[in-house]
Amino acid sequence: MRIKRVAALAAAATLAFGLAACGGDDAGEGTGSKSFPAGSTMERLNKAQKIKVGTKFDQPGFGQKGLSGKPEGFDVEVAKIIVKELGIPEDKIEFVETPSKVREDKIVDGSVDLVAATYTINDKRKERIAFAGPYYEAGQNILVKKDDTTITGPDSFKDGTKKVCSVTGSTPAEKIKEYVKDVATQLVLFDTYDKCRDALKNGQVDAVTTDNVILLGYIAKDEASFKLAGDNFTKEPYGIGVKKEDTDFRTFINDTLEKAFADGSWKKAWDDTAGKFGAELGAAPTINRY
Ligand code: GLU
Repeated sequence: MRIKRVAALAAAATLAFGLAACGGDDAGEGTGSKSFPAGSTMERLNKAQKIKVGTKFDQPGFGQKGLSGKPEGFDVEVAKIIVKELGIPEDKIEFVETPSKVREDKIVDGSVDLVAATYTINDKRKERIAFAGPYYEAGQNILVKKDDTTITGPDSFKDGTKKVCSVTGSTPAEKIKEYVKDVATQLVLFDTYDKCRDALKNGQVDAVTTDNVILLGYIAKDEASFKLAGDNFTKEPYGIGVKKEDTDFRTFINDTLEKAFADGSWKKAWDDTAGKFGAELGAAPTINRY
């Protein structure tokens, strides 16, 4: 009897050990037992078994909060790939809404651990934060009402008569200033793109400008109302924002993205989300390890 009990305990211990060992290798299990360099952000997050991810809540296909109460989209899926590699379970992600204007602030003040939010890599932003990536390249375009024939591209704003909406702190809001005749009367700025879409729908503005893929998301949700006017007129490489000095974390994310490009998870993330809305994924971009 006693021998039986000892044997049973030994068997249970072996089983438990075996499971723990397996868990350590499987980033998706969230055992906390992955090993990362001491003192690194990866180690801190893995030990805490939770992470705060900044994303958009109003952009279909990239980051949109739906009935599930959680944001869904390509940015969200890319963030999940990174979180999985950190050994943190998906349900331990706290998604924080990060409209365009507050992205750098939220990274700098530590209210998010990373930002995946249609976030164009550029030198001005790099003065305050750092970017891993790119993991996608979008381009600025213009959304108009389906029956509009007067706006055919950014040059259509040069005569000073048309109003265009964009979002504060975004690259398209800056770029369109090169085309409008009078910024004060023609450029309308909100904090989120869904407010611009509503303003277009109810006739307060004549157009919305931002990245093509964001606009394609709005078209997919309301094909009877909207269309794109013309071709992309900028290049918007999307990066993952992290703290400026955190080179190890940036390198970890770059490695993770390259792995995702190669193993099909990046393409799957696209096909499941924004890929359904008519935009092209294209070839995997070259990671910029500056
Ligand atoms: N990709 C552009 C940017 O980072 C526009 C989209 C956005 O506002 O998130 O500014």
